[in-house]
Amino acid sequence: MKSHFDKILGDERVKRGVEFLKEDHENTLKEQKEICAISSPSFQEELRGKDYMKRFQDLGLEDVHMDEVGNVLGKISGNQNGPKLVVAAHLDTVFPQGTDTTVKEKDGYFYAPGIGDDTRGLAEILSIIRAFKETGIKPVGDVIFCGNVCEEGLGDLRGTKHLFQKQKDIDGFISIDGTGADTIIHEATGSHRYKITYRGLGGHSFKDFGMPSAIHALGRAIGKIGDLKVPEDPRTTFTVGTVEGGTSVNAIAATASMYVDMRSNSEEELLKLEKDFLKIVKESEEEENNRWNHEEKIKVNIELLGNRPAGSQSEKEPIIEATVEAIKAIGLEPKIKGAASTDANIPISLGIPAIAVGRGGMSGEIHTLKEWFDPKDAYYGPQKTFLAIVGLVGVKNLSEPLLRKRK
Ligand SMILES: [Zn+2]
Repeated sequence: MKSHFDKILGDERVKRGVEFLKEDHENTLKEQKEICAISSPSFQEELRGKDYMKRFQDLGLEDVHMDEVGNVLGKISGNQNGPKLVVAAHLDTVFPQGTDTTVKEKDGYFYAPGIGDDTRGLAEILSIIRAFKETGIKPVGDVIFCGNVCEEGLGDLRGTKHLFQKQKDIDGFISIDGTGADTIIHEATGSHRYKITYRGLGGHSFKDFGMPSAIHALGRAIGKIGDLKVPEDPRTTFTVGTVEGGTSVNAIAATASMYVDMRSNSEEELLKLEKDFLKIVKESEEEENNRWNHEEKIKVNIELLGNRPAGSQSEKEPIIEATVEAIKAIGLEPKIKGAASTDANIPISLGIPAIAVGRGGMSGEIHTLKEWFDPKDAYYGPQKTFLAIVGLVGVKNLSEPLLRKRK
C-alpha cells in the first residue's frame, strides 16, 4: 500500500492536484457560503439540489442528473472496466424551512446553521472535481460524485438507501461528513426508532374505574424496557426518549405513547433487542387488559420511524488503508474512529466497502443555530479525499485501482 502510494505521490499531476486544492481554498469557502444560504431540510432538498446539479453541469461532469428521490449525481468515467467509487456529501440539514442560514463572519470564523454539516462536504466535492479538471488526471475506474438527500434524523438515509437499491454495481463509497480531515469512520451503528401508542376508551377516574388505562399499559412497558439487558461489546443501547399521554389527573387515560431509540454496532444484537422490545410492548397491552377484564380493551399501535442497519468491515479493506495513506501524505495522523451512524451505514450493511471521512476545517455546535466553522487549513479535507480517490480508482498510465471490483 505504502509503495503504491509513493508512486502516486511522486507523479507531477497528482502533486499539482494537491497544490491546486490549496490554491482553490477561497473558491471552496465562497461556494460553501453560497450553498449554506439555500435552506435544505430533509425531504425538502430540491432547491439546494437543483443548485448543486447546476454546479456539477458547469464543472463538466458526465451524466449529471437528479434521481427519483432527489440525489444529485455526476461522474468522471474511467476505462469502462474499472471499479466504481461513489463520493458523497449530504444535501439535507436538520433546520426547518424559514431558518436563517445566511453566513455571518466574525474573527475569521463562519457562523450559520449547517455551515459545517454538511455544506462543507458538498463544497469539498466541487473543489475535488476542479482538481481533476485542472490536472487532467484520467481515472481507471469511475468516480461518481453525489449530493444525497435525507441523511439526517427522520430522513433515515433515504438517499443512500435508494442509491444502493437502484445501482448494484457500486464497488466503494466515501461519505464526506463529520469534523476533522484526519478521521475515518468504518463501522456502522445501526438504529431502530419506534413510536408506540396505547389507545383505549378512557373515562372518569372514579365513575369508570375498572376501565384499562393507556398510561398504565405504557408504564408496564417502560418498566420492563428499563430492565432489558444488552451487551457492552458490541455496544448496544436503548432509551425511551419521550412520553406523552392522558388529559387530566382525574381521567383514565385514553392514549399514551412513547418514542424509543435502540442502537447497536451489530445488526444481530440490534434485531435481538428489537425482538425483546416488541414482545414487551405486546405483553403490556395484554397484561393491562387482563388486569381489569373489562369489555373495552387497550390496543397498541406500533410505528417504525427509523431503520438504519448496522455493520462492520475489516480495517484491512483497501478503502480504509488507502485513506490512511492519503491522510499521512498530507502530514496528518489518521484517526480510525470506529462506529457511527452515517450514510456509509447502507453500503457497509450490504458488505460494500465504505467509510465516512471528516471535512477540513473545524466546526462545532452542529445541529444547533449556533453552528460555527473555522476555515483554517480547511483544504486538508479535499486534499486527503482527492488522494484517497486517486489511489482507489487508479490513474491511467500510472497506477492500478486499489479498490476491487466486486463482480
Ligand atoms: Zn452530516
